[in-house]
Amino acid sequence: MYFYLKKLSLLKKFCIQVYFLTPIVIMKFGGSCLIDKSAFNRILEIIKIYKNEKKIIVTSAFNGITDLLLNTARNVNNPNVLDDNMAVLENKHFNTIEQIFDEDSEPFLKAKIWVDKKLSELEDTFADIKEFGLEPYYQDYVLSFGEILSTYILNQYLISKELDSVYIPANKLIITNDEFNNAYPFYEFTNQRVQELLIPMLENPQKDTIICITGFIGRNKIGYTTTLGRGGSDYSATILAHSIYETAEDKNIKVILWKDVDGLMAINPKYIPKSTLIRSLDYKEAKHIANFGAKILHPKCLEAIEKLKIPIELRNFSNPLEKIEFTEISEHTDKNEIKGISTVEDAVIITIVSGSLVDVPGVLAKIFKVMSKNKISVSLVAQSASEISTSFIVKEDESKRAVEALYNSGYFSDFFEIKSEQVAIINITGFKILENSTKVKIFQALEKKDIHVKALTQSTEELNLSLVVSRRDVINAIAIFHDDLCEDFEHKLNNNNKMELCRSNTN
Ligand code: ASP
Ligand code: MG
Repeated sequence: MYFYLKKLSLLKKFCIQVYFLTPIVIMKFGGSCLIDKSAFNRILEIIKIYKNEKKIIVTSAFNGITDLLLNTARNVNNPNVLDDNMAVLENKHFNTIEQIFDEDSEPFLKAKIWVDKKLSELEDTFADIKEFGLEPYYQDYVLSFGEILSTYILNQYLISKELDSVYIPANKLIITNDEFNNAYPFYEFTNQRVQELLIPMLENPQKDTIICITGFIGRNKIGYTTTLGRGGSDYSATILAHSIYETAEDKNIKVILWKDVDGLMAINPKYIPKSTLIRSLDYKEAKHIANFGAKILHPKCLEAIEKLKIPIELRNFSNPLEKIEFTEISEHTDKNEIKGISTVEDAVIITIVSGSLVDVPGVLAKIFKVMSKNKISVSLVAQSASEISTSFIVKEDESKRAVEALYNSGYFSDFFEIKSEQVAIINITGFKILENSTKVKIFQALEKKDIHVKALTQSTEELNLSLVVSRRDVINAIAIFHDDLCEDFEHKLNNNNKMELCRSNTN
């Protein structure tokens, strides 16, 4: 009897789960997906495509609004700028409202009242900034208005189309540390809020509520609004995916970032116009490519979902029905492929040479302490095992400061020689880089064009090779890599196309 009851209750639980649980999709729409009536319409079409999923929509501010807010906050003492910017803010939002809603409908009025109310709160904040100065807290608070306006308008738009939708400002959900302008989430607290606020809606079989959440913003423990870094709405989407995964019954979760391109390209089309799309890659590969690529995705977005293996798709907003031309980042990858070649062109390599570096503990620490004190970010680092010299890369616009800071530090004086040179970095990413034969091809290709590599590194993660070359060599290097390594790239096209691609680029 006991077993029978236990079985029955298990069966009931199973049935409830199967019946209730629906896959969840978290979609992020950036400012370029909210530009006019047809863009809002396209969001409706996309919602229809995902009719079988529970939907969370994360929204960025309208195009250009975050920059405008920042500019205003920095110019509160200039009444002309303040007035002009407030007028632009008002016009941009009211114009959209007038385009997308039927005049005098309830959502139209609600959206208008919302914008009025928020803009007056914003004005009060500008007055505070004028009085107290632009503290980091104020900056984040001001920037949060972009998403608070856009997301509410989208939410009312969905309601006006007879969809069930709620608006939730992310500072009710995402709890962060105190690092204003670049905050990190505390998952423990965020999970709890997600569980309380979102899960009941997501697991309600009776209702198909579309949950509209502001991107980019969170709050710290004492309730101050924080922001997750510029372009942070993608991060909001993956943070929410993380917390939903950890709290929902069903782990069938996917993130879609709607972009104005198909996804990540194997090579920047600026160099190779016929470059192909990377259709699938894993988190590690994506982190390398995302970091150097056309800033389509920030690596921290991937960190939020990598361990949980939540897949993320980058899709073209103008082509929502596309079946294959998009990028999927997941735990799966073909290890026999080079995924992409990316470049950093505004790099400067700083080299410190000295016999005094040999076998002295803490020299590297000293170098990087100077950089960190001056808030200069260091990317590639190369040191020969002989320790005679150390080279590292900084961004061009920080390089002068970096060299001066080293000289002024008092440590790197007479016994050290400090050199700097403008360079570019070429990164070749993919598991295939592991193979000696790939490296042979790379260096044979460089040899053909007489291109000299000034420094190089390969991470222990083994899937990225970074080559430092002269800036004038970049175009040639990429062209020859593309031609000579063509066969190693991911081309899920059929073989004919693949041949075509190789041929067209060797011409
Ligand atoms: N609106 C913010 C920005 O422009 C966040 C985002 O767009 O993702 O940085
Ligand atoms: Mg933006």
